[in-house]
Amino acid sequence: MYSIHKNLLPPTETCLTPYHAQTLTSLRFELKSPIFHIGDRYATTALRSLWLDDWLGGKVLSCGYEFGQEMGVVVENVWWVEGGALWWCRVVRRRSPTLYCVSPSSHITTLNTSLPHAKCIRVQNGVFTEILTSIPNEKDITYLPGYIIPGIIESHGHILQYGEMLESVSLYDAKSMEEVRVRIREFLSRHEGEGYGTRDKWVRGIGWDQKYFGGVMPTAEELAIDPELSDLYIMLDRVDVHCVLTSQKVLDLLPDPLPEAPPGGVIITDPGPGVFCDNAMDSIIFPLAPKPDVAQKTRWFKSAMVELNKVGIIGVGDAGMRPDDVRILEGMAEKGEMSVRVNVMLECAERNTFCPEETGSLKLLAAPDGLGEHMLMLGGVKLFADGALGSWGAALLEPYSDKDETSGTMLINETELTSVVKKWFDAGFQVNVHAIGDRANRAAVDAFENVLGKDCTGCNEARRLRIEHAQIIHPEDQKRIAKMGIIPSIQPTHATSDMSYALSRLGANRLSHSAYRMHSLFPLSTPNSKTGSYPGPVLGSDFPVEPPNPFHGMYAAVTRLNPATGSSPDGEKGWYMEEALSVEQALVGFTRNAAYGWFREGEMGSIAVGRWADWVVVDRDLLAEGDGSGRGLRDVVVWETWVGGRRVWGVGDEAVGDGEEEGGDGKDEL
Ligand SMILES: [Zn+2]
Repeated sequence: MYSIHKNLLPPTETCLTPYHAQTLTSLRFELKSPIFHIGDRYATTALRSLWLDDWLGGKVLSCGYEFGQEMGVVVENVWWVEGGALWWCRVVRRRSPTLYCVSPSSHITTLNTSLPHAKCIRVQNGVFTEILTSIPNEKDITYLPGYIIPGIIESHGHILQYGEMLESVSLYDAKSMEEVRVRIREFLSRHEGEGYGTRDKWVRGIGWDQKYFGGVMPTAEELAIDPELSDLYIMLDRVDVHCVLTSQKVLDLLPDPLPEAPPGGVIITDPGPGVFCDNAMDSIIFPLAPKPDVAQKTRWFKSAMVELNKVGIIGVGDAGMRPDDVRILEGMAEKGEMSVRVNVMLECAERNTFCPEETGSLKLLAAPDGLGEHMLMLGGVKLFADGALGSWGAALLEPYSDKDETSGTMLINETELTSVVKKWFDAGFQVNVHAIGDRANRAAVDAFENVLGKDCTGCNEARRLRIEHAQIIHPEDQKRIAKMGIIPSIQPTHATSDMSYALSRLGANRLSHSAYRMHSLFPLSTPNSKTGSYPGPVLGSDFPVEPPNPFHGMYAAVTRLNPATGSSPDGEKGWYMEEALSVEQALVGFTRNAAYGWFREGEMGSIAVGRWADWVVVDRDLLAEGDGSGRGLRDVVVWETWVGGRRVWGVGDEAVGDGEEEGGDGKDEL
């Protein structure tokens, strides 16, 4: 993260050396200034008086001092022990402003309509303080390579799961169970001696898809064919993370015969046992799995953030996090250990419930500005209306075209959804509902209309209720969403991953008027006072379900082609091009609109005076890319990523972790 010069001012025995006395004097002066904060990590309501009156009074037993720089500010950490307690104080001082410019032949795309192009940005204390259209005649200029765009905000991802994936066997696109076994063996040989496969440390993997196995679900027996694997505890997530394949050792932990599947869950027994889906996975298998500890989760958070920074992501809407995991992030935010701003959608231990007793103790709830210099923020709650299209779990109004005995599954019925949405809404929370199928989307719209009011036109501006995925929406409900200004949270690469089977699942009619809307979700005219400020959908990837690269998402949105193959079921011309976005719309979906989806349009999403200094340096002018065809978007190279005026990643920085970035197709959503 930032460098701390531990030797600059080593802790002394008494803390009363002349140097410290001098520092204290200056800090006393700073106390009167509005540009610093004192934070108390352990306890100190009386910190100020302690600081001013008691410090020099000789009560200090031992102490320490650190000096560092982060996010455009100078940081001084001082701690001392007194009365058996550790007291800690953090002083943050404004650093002098820095001027960054691009070369004369390049420019900065601000996405700020009053000043769309610039040459330089001045940054101080983590925010933009000046935007310049020409390079000034100043001595101290830091030149940045390439072109600058606002920092990318990923509206829907899962950081912890992504970090975990980076430490798992990657099974994406494994073409057979033999390939699955080979990849597990390779993983084990890379991690020899680390204890993988024991009762306390299962082998984890993600990405298998039975479509590569002739449509037949895999079994525990197929894993055991390999004697090297037969005695190991193994749990492998299906590509959509709605099912797991377990090894015989895991099955041996279960009663014989296997328990009945709970409602909303499936235990696959044909052609043999091993796979558990949805609620069966949650209630039967997960309780048996070893629980990662805080240190392990912290490592996952950190390695995920590094990988996200590499592709230009400065902020993530985490689409469902349990309070215990949020607490880990709270600690990281306070210690300055986050390099991605995270806007957390809370999830109760029991899905789709109202759980103020679980969330109430979070520091985040009492911090409307977020924690750790706005690195951790609250994004409301996450509810789940239905499952995934790939496994026929998305709840449809009419039966599936390729399985007419089913129309999918609601994870919560309409009445209960309306009730739980109202409880969170009334408690003041932003509500984000996962909805894939048109029945689930209707249920979400009904629940939102119930709280917003039948006469709501644009009134969702005040509450920013969101539908996560919003994949298949009946035309009537599309109109209602537009009228109220409900925010669709769209993942363009889901569309291009699903397009290979969407026609067979949905049929041509439903596909053409209801599915994978993007362009028509943008407002027809500039938002105004009558329609509210709704600016259009917010975009993301749902990583680790899809790779997090936002430029692949933009490519998918603009070309409606699969970024991995450059093709679609309609060949190279793109799939249902009437719903394609312009390059600018795609970029706005990943920046300005995403900020709106967080109530942060005044603070992020564009480059303007007063906004947080988050930006990305890329190798090309995105808006001019391929004359607007967007075909080159998938090749965009990120050179640098800056968060709050701090460079968090640059080409040439040491790579962290050995994670792979992969993704297959046919995936749905978390
Ligand atoms: Zn998700």
